Amino acid sequence: MSKQVIILGAGYAGLRALHELQKGAADLKITLVDRNAYHYEATDLHEVAAGTQTKDKISYPISDVVKASCTTFIQGTVDKIDPDNQTVLLEDGQVLTYDYLVVALGFVSESFGIPGVEEYALQMVDVATAEQIHQHIEEQMKTYKETKDPELLKIVVCGAGFTGIELLGAFVEGRKHFAELAGVEPAAIELYCVEAVTRLLPMFSEKLADYGIQRLEKWGVKFLTGKPIKEIKPDTVVYQEDKETGAVTELKAKTIIWTTGVSGSRVVGASGFEAKRGRVMVNPDLTAPAHENVYIVGDCSAVMDMASNRPYPTTAQISLKMGEQAGRNIKAQLKGKATEPFTFHSLGSVCSIGNTHAFGEVGKTEVKGYPASFIKKAIMDRSLLETGGVKEVMAKGRFDFYH
Ligand code: NAD
Repeated sequence: MSKQVIILGAGYAGLRALHELQKGAADLKITLVDRNAYHYEATDLHEVAAGTQTKDKISYPISDVVKASCTTFIQGTVDKIDPDNQTVLLEDGQVLTYDYLVVALGFVSESFGIPGVEEYALQMVDVATAEQIHQHIEEQMKTYKETKDPELLKIVVCGAGFTGIELLGAFVEGRKHFAELAGVEPAAIELYCVEAVTRLLPMFSEKLADYGIQRLEKWGVKFLTGKPIKEIKPDTVVYQEDKETGAVTELKAKTIIWTTGVSGSRVVGASGFEAKRGRVMVNPDLTAPAHENVYIVGDCSAVMDMASNRPYPTTAQISLKMGEQAGRNIKAQLKGKATEPFTFHSLGSVCSIGNTHAFGEVGKTEVKGYPASFIKKAIMDRSLLETGGVKEVMAKGRFDFYH
């Protein structure tokens, strides 16, 4: 009888696992579950938030990559996994049974329990929330035209990680449109970034990180570093000004966006897997402890990098590789062969600051400016190719290399 594989999540890891499993899947029945009918490139959400790309440009229908001969797609939200009974419960009450499971449910925003974050800050975790940010800012700009309240022109990004920096870069670019709506010069739109630490972007050399930050500063972004945020109040970011005295300062703004880090999907912890910030420390072959038929991949997974003796970070590149390895290992198990441990060699990482600027590392070489943005687009096209194939790259790829 055919074995049943369920893949939860159609993000980078889930679709890469699907791609691998659909290759030579003669005796497999695959079920893919996602809450949306479309896949989106999570690394491009900041562009939708800033209005520099539309939702359609960063997403495509899941049906485009589903091989109907072996795969069924269910649009639904996962409630819980029961690994002992090998079932998955969906929010609409459906119960699915599996022989093998791939958990690729992605990330949620991490508030670290800071008061007011859930209530008063905007999150950027999926297409809907990215679009909400864009609509929210457009509304503030239109209201400014009527009221001239300067707080309407202020945008605060909380956290200067990869996400915060790429978002700020996109806002610099999207500022022109916002300014037109408000009837002001682009420079009148004030962009702030409040960050707890002073050494930003530790994945890059200090010199390279400084390059990116200084570029943004040159374009008018105001960085408040070494200022941990203690609370979000309505239209207000409260940050610690002085560590010694604990004195706090309030920064008023009508747009506050929370990008201080992520956790794995809450489903993982709720299903009884031992997780830290929603990430399960998996076995070297990506299976969950004590469940050799459950693979946990992408942002829900922590896998040790033996070279650094620390878990790999959560990136799209690593998620893609994890999905591929999980697919391969399931196929090995089906043939009675041994699974292989996950290994990863980074191609480098590039942080975009707008459409035509970027900085980062490719191999051991540092790249910056326009050439780096060229490389960034090639990286984006490659990830699109790995999940969506040639059709999606032709339709959605970034070929605007020359400006
Ligand atoms: P992050 O953890 O990388 O950065 C969060 C930042 O917020 C840090 O600088 C941290 O010091 C700061 N912070 C935390 N708490 C704070 C507080 N209370 N007040 C002020 N600042 C605070 O998170 P991220 O940027 O959301 O990225 C999440 C993961 O996704 C990372 O592994 C990142 O590398 C990855 N990512 C990769 C790409 C890419 O490769 N293109 C893009 C985006 C994100």
